[in-house]
Amino acid sequence: MKSLYIDGQWEDRDDTIAVQDPATGEVVENVARGRAGDAVRAVEAAAREWERWRQVPADTRAVRLRRVAALILEHQEELARLLTREQGKPLSDARGEVQSASEQFLWYAEEGRRVHGDVLPAPAPDRRFWVWREPVGVSAVITPWNYPIQTVARKTAAALAAGCTVVVKPSSLTPLSAVELVRLIEQADIPPGVVNLVTGPAEEIGGVLTTHPAVRKITFTGSTEVGKRLMAEASSTVKSLSLELGGHAPLLVFADADLDKAVRGAVTARFRSMGQICHSANRILVHQDILPAFRAAFTAAVAALKVAPGFEAGSQIGPLINEAAVLRAERHVQDAVDQGATLLTGGTRGRDPGLLQGTFFLPAVLDNCTPAMLVAREETFGPVAPLIPFRHEEEAVAEANRTPYGLAAYLFTRDLARALRVAEHLEAGVIGLNEARASGISTPFGGVKESGFGREGGHYGIEEFLVTKSIAVSLE
Ligand code: NAP
Repeated sequence: MKSLYIDGQWEDRDDTIAVQDPATGEVVENVARGRAGDAVRAVEAAAREWERWRQVPADTRAVRLRRVAALILEHQEELARLLTREQGKPLSDARGEVQSASEQFLWYAEEGRRVHGDVLPAPAPDRRFWVWREPVGVSAVITPWNYPIQTVARKTAAALAAGCTVVVKPSSLTPLSAVELVRLIEQADIPPGVVNLVTGPAEEIGGVLTTHPAVRKITFTGSTEVGKRLMAEASSTVKSLSLELGGHAPLLVFADADLDKAVRGAVTARFRSMGQICHSANRILVHQDILPAFRAAFTAAVAALKVAPGFEAGSQIGPLINEAAVLRAERHVQDAVDQGATLLTGGTRGRDPGLLQGTFFLPAVLDNCTPAMLVAREETFGPVAPLIPFRHEEEAVAEANRTPYGLAAYLFTRDLARALRVAEHLEAGVIGLNEARASGISTPFGGVKESGFGREGGHYGIEEFLVTKSIAVSLE
């Protein structure tokens, strides 16, 4: 298919990448395998067009972005179906993701109109100090496969609203919804060259995006490993970076927690999107006094989750993204069991023939886990929940902060003083306090430590695409 969109032209290539449906293994579509030369042309188009787009009044940019938002909603159902096909997530989740993509454009349509500078006190009557906020410039948007349309939308909407132009490099596993999003952007009369899309091999295209002098900003969501690499490559031209990287979120359940709420929260925080979320609760730390009751209710709730292809009514757990993801989940379960954990439910591919043709994995609960196990150290990025007991608050906080990650953390307690004390001590950019859905369109999202830096969402998100210019004026 024509999946390269460079300077307003759609192009295909004989050399392609097959995109597979993880529920069936079928090939959904073949996208062009773009090359370094394509990335260079995309950057050059974005650089040329930036000179014009940055001059377009924010009100006019807002009209175009609102149009994109409306077009996404008009096409919500077909986009959601495409998302379920290429990514596997349940259709209801896919609809929600498309809705969220639309909301990003609406939000940033307005946010772009609120960018303003300052007039500062000057030291003499005939002097003036002004501060202007300007677009940073050509921005490379590099995105993962777990939220393929929402992530592209959030970054692109904020960049465009700020007056930047972009080159999007979507995940090779899920490029199709990004292609359709860019088609809608084109229909919204965003001029050629403002948004460019290059599908293809990461290292070749990424190598251009991280080193080309015209690229001023890299906004990346993906693994910590790749984030570090991009950071190193981008240092040669000192690019501005926003890195939304991996996580290993702890979820703390104290003895005074509302048990039902904690169980529901833990199921959502661990198993939403099949556990393939960067802020997924990877370690469930439970006070020993409440552990028996929590374990029983949590295991029952997890065993009741419906594992089925995303198009099947009531599906809550679709397939994992690919075979490698299933193998990683299996390895984490096996390692935990080898080290003394007890598998309470799930943890296998299941026996249903309808599941065996895809990359399904039954949601697992592991009891008696320790910090030494792989599942407590590495991001599983799959539906595996290790239960780790604790006795004291200090012990729980120390374990929560033990990993090099710092994206999200969750805690369930009814003690206000404890809640605030622990929230203050948790090393994470995002906290869910008696709440599993720890972010919203208005909130800043991003990590600390090796989970990265920079914030997306709300008015914080547009800051990432702005630079500050100070102007000193003499009236003499
Ligand atoms: P990934 O392997 O790091 O890939 C992410 C993106 O980077 C893809 O588009 C990939 O392209 C591209 N890429 C890979 N190597 C590159 C290179 N050398 N130069 C330039 N681009 C390169 O991550 P993933 O497996 O797609 O996503 C899962 C990871 O993302 C998890 O670690 C998860 O925690 C993290 N994540 C973080 C957040 C957050 O907000 N903090 C949100 C979602 C996911 P190809 O597909 O072509 O390889």
